[in-house]
Amino acid sequence: MSVPTIIIPTGNLVKLGLRNTDSIHYQSAPEKLVQQTLQMGEGVLNDTGALVIDTGVFTGRSPKDKFTVKDDITADTINWGEFNQPIEEKYYHIIYQKMMDYLSNVPEIWVQDCYACADPRYRINIRVTTEKPWVSLFTYNMFLRPAEEELDQFKPEWNVICALDLKLNAEECGIRQSNVTLVSYQHKAILIAGTKYTGEIKKGIFGILNYLLPQQQNILGMHCSANMGKDGDTAIFFGLSGTGKTTLSADPHRQLIGDDEHGWATDTVFNFEGGCYAKCINLTEEKEPEIYQAIRPGALVENVCFYPGTNKINFEDASITENTRVSYPLYYISNAKEPAIGGNPKNIFFLTCDAYGVLPPIAKLTPGQAMYQFISGYTAKVAGTETGIKEPKPTFSACFGAPFLPLHPGKYAEMLGRKMKEHDVKVWLVNTGWTGGPYGVGSRMKLSYTRAMIAAALSGELNNVPTETDPVFGVTIPLSCPGVPGEILHPQNTWADKEAYNEKAKFLASLFIQNFEKYKEGVSTEILKAAPKV
Ligand code: ATP
Ligand code: MN
Repeated sequence: MSVPTIIIPTGNLVKLGLRNTDSIHYQSAPEKLVQQTLQMGEGVLNDTGALVIDTGVFTGRSPKDKFTVKDDITADTINWGEFNQPIEEKYYHIIYQKMMDYLSNVPEIWVQDCYACADPRYRINIRVTTEKPWVSLFTYNMFLRPAEEELDQFKPEWNVICALDLKLNAEECGIRQSNVTLVSYQHKAILIAGTKYTGEIKKGIFGILNYLLPQQQNILGMHCSANMGKDGDTAIFFGLSGTGKTTLSADPHRQLIGDDEHGWATDTVFNFEGGCYAKCINLTEEKEPEIYQAIRPGALVENVCFYPGTNKINFEDASITENTRVSYPLYYISNAKEPAIGGNPKNIFFLTCDAYGVLPPIAKLTPGQAMYQFISGYTAKVAGTETGIKEPKPTFSACFGAPFLPLHPGKYAEMLGRKMKEHDVKVWLVNTGWTGGPYGVGSRMKLSYTRAMIAAALSGELNNVPTETDPVFGVTIPLSCPGVPGEILHPQNTWADKEAYNEKAKFLASLFIQNFEKYKEGVSTEILKAAPKV
């Protein structure tokens, strides 16, 4: 596992504009990065030996501070708007220069080379440069790790440059406030300043892959997790934040391909990353043993609190943030798939965490319904990944990942629809959210039940059970499932007040319909017919 410091590519860094090239740590081993973080007083070890750090003011991504340079490459291809905010090229140069000046004056910098895309045909080399050793550890954990002998020849195609403690002048830099995540396809660079939230690096790379791969390689970028059964069958799990991608893909009976970002090529589904970024809130060894046991030396834990006077993590403590996280390399999960590549999927799950308690815990979708749900991308958030969101709130995010999609959502939806039909994929809607009433009345679906439902769908055990059609959403609800009490499968049964259920179902249906207005013109009648009925 240890990667010795072998070469210092100062030439490259001088090209970047960095002057302090004698204090560069290149490709330090994880143990070294941990030590250096401890020495700098930037982190502490917990009782299982993982490195625990605070990311400061930002404990989630800041989508409002993400910009993409509008240039000849991007002007006509990017779906400009809320999630793809344009910025002029001149600001790229201003910000870049300020970051170089800043990084040339910090005592030390860390450079970590890595790559994205587990399918070697599509590999993209990345270099992450930063003033904090733990950012290099995050990079090591989350991206794919080049072999030692590859480093001599390593040519970074994309640069991620982080100046975490630099505060920019918003007006001078053409940005909203003192922090920014800035993408330039011309310069093949992601500039991150003024935020220490590591997720900006991870999702920054995701965004560029979702731009490049569909256009250049006809590969669909997906915000999903993926795993593989004993027979080699791949399953993928789409879902917005907090819906269960990471939790449900870590399954002792299936090999983990990845927990968050994948590409679907003509014949493979492959992980973009080399690690997982799991939530820690309310983590228990009993319910999520794989993730719990990954919190060990080398893992990087963010924004958790200890029990007073100890270095034992109190996983229930959300006083810094609900969005407590741990990153670890994929191989920390005992049955990880190496390399992280699977075949065309047999099953697709759309995960939603419906805080209204309306959607069935599992339902089978027709191809039209599948497309309707994919384009809608519904969940009702209950925890804050983005700065500021703490209360439950319905979210519709196209393709279950609108903030990470530089192209028009229709492009990804069209690709998915084509692939689903071509490979005759079974598609399921899974509500990992509320049962027995909405948030405040009912409770979250038991994880063991959701796992049992997914296992039954995968094994084919749901193919021949009695079903009922959901009167509002039209989806097919199985009425029995091994390991799950029958009465929870139909959501209306679980509500004490049936009329209240009907009301809420109609309300949620109206939210779907309202949201779909903007897509109505561009989709087929098959998809339109899959809309819920109010
Ligand atoms: P992100 O995109 O932010 O990484 P994610 O889709 O990977 O989000 P998870 O990290 O898996 O989401 O979060 C699901 C959370 O919900 C976990 O903390 C898990 O313990 C909890 N949970 C509770 N009940 C369930 C359930 N029935 N199914 C799935 N997750 C559940
Ligand atoms: Mn996740």
